[in-house]
Amino acid sequence: MLPIGAHLDHADPVAAARELGADAVQFFLTDPQGWTDPPERPDAAAIAASGLAVFVHAPYRINIAATNNRIRIPSRKLLASHAKGAAAIGARGLIVHGGHVGAGDDAAVGFENWRKLFERAEFEVPILIENTAGGENAMARSFDRLARLWDAVGEFGAGLCLDTCHAHAAGEDLAGIVDRVTAITGRVDLVHANGSRDEFGSSRDRHANYADSLLDPELIAAAVAAAGVPAIVETPVEGHAADIAYLRERLPE
Ligand SMILES: [Zn+2]
Repeated sequence: MLPIGAHLDHADPVAAARELGADAVQFFLTDPQGWTDPPERPDAAAIAASGLAVFVHAPYRINIAATNNRIRIPSRKLLASHAKGAAAIGARGLIVHGGHVGAGDDAAVGFENWRKLFERAEFEVPILIENTAGGENAMARSFDRLARLWDAVGEFGAGLCLDTCHAHAAGEDLAGIVDRVTAITGRVDLVHANGSRDEFGSSRDRHANYADSLLDPELIAAAVAAAGVPAIVETPVEGHAADIAYLRERLPE
């Protein structure tokens, strides 16, 4: 069985996952809107030994592509400290958004900044770059941009976190999406199996439970099955159990 779980509170993620009956869990190590390094966790060994497929989501502020070095340099440092924190709890990967450059900037500079990240540092956990829903001049919104990003980072073993809501928002058809994206990246490491409150191509990043989703949940489940990798729902908490049950019913044993 593929590990399926949810993005949960970081206070006691193992207990939260058990309560939900999840076998995968994702959480933040710090306030996702902040710039702080993760503190040492007294439960690090317990998380690592939990048997859960553990994923850590990096803070939102990180923008590895940024042309402004007052954003880019602290972003690299913050990613490194969160990778260390993720390794300490036995995480399978650290998820970070693809980021963006300014509206007037040459996108090539952003892709080059991604390459420099991996040229200059090694990480103790896989770095899983996530496709994003919108934003001007984003690095990983459309799949043609993703192809340019992978030209820069693919050789370093960068991983992919495919978010179904973001792809739908970006105007990437969910039907057959895993084949299309794998042709670009060679891999999918994690699926963020999210429904969407908005129409196809809306550029809006509003995750929905499957019961409220304008993105057909059958396509979400099909993407998870095709990828054959763990899935995390980042949907409203009240529908976590139903969303996970929906996926499990549709995945092969
Ligand atoms: Zn996501």
